[in-house]
Amino acid sequence: MVEQRFEVERKRLVEELVSSGIINSKEVIRAMSKVPREEFVPEHLKNKAYIDSPLPIGHGQTISAPHMVAMMCEFLELKVGDKVLEVGAGSGYHAAVIAEIVAPENAKNPGHVYTVEIVKELVDFARKNLEKTSYIKYVTIVCGDGTLGLPEYAPFDKILITAAAPKIPPPLIEQLKPGGILVSPVGEPHFYQTLQRLVKTLDGKIEVSELCGVAFVPLKGKYGWKI
Ligand code: SAH
Repeated sequence: MVEQRFEVERKRLVEELVSSGIINSKEVIRAMSKVPREEFVPEHLKNKAYIDSPLPIGHGQTISAPHMVAMMCEFLELKVGDKVLEVGAGSGYHAAVIAEIVAPENAKNPGHVYTVEIVKELVDFARKNLEKTSYIKYVTIVCGDGTLGLPEYAPFDKILITAAAPKIPPPLIEQLKPGGILVSPVGEPHFYQTLQRLVKTLDGKIEVSELCGVAFVPLKGKYGWKI
């Protein structure tokens, strides 16, 4: 009964995101319709899982709003087989949505998501959530400073930062494949920032464009905010 209620609410939210023009791609619609966001929020907030809003996950951090997760997935132009780096695992929800797109059931060449989280307790929370929903198969979680990237797994087809950066960390630009896309909020640590999309062209040139205004928690670490 409870699961059915969540399914109905999930379907309704995705329909709203589609009709308001926020999601267009079939694959993002499929993934958002499948990943159970209620499994990635603290127990007492499960009944709010399908409100299109960020929710607290402890340690001063939040799970991003569904529309933001969907928009970032669209801007990244995710494809089956992509190797993706996420900075800021938080609840693990965004990583699960990406895994659903790059490594769908029965894919011959499944992709993989590497996600880095700086708060140890959130690494444990994300891992637990990804285990119970079985996305852990296609997601590797690492505890550490994501602004340094993960040189041992680089280069990546796509990179996303889910916290507000003062500027895009140079190691992440280095670890992006030619032809790759990076999406990140860039701007002040406390509201508001601009979502930027960086493309590394096949001949290695860097092109940056501004997408929209956003509000994220601050990025910490070597290339983050010292707060
Ligand atoms: N993508 C998450 C939401 C993340 S909120 C989700 O789907 O739930 C941003 C997260 O970035 C927080 O958990 C915060 O602890 C983490 N963070 C901030 N600076 C970081 C850094 N330098 N490296 C890794 N994680 C960082």
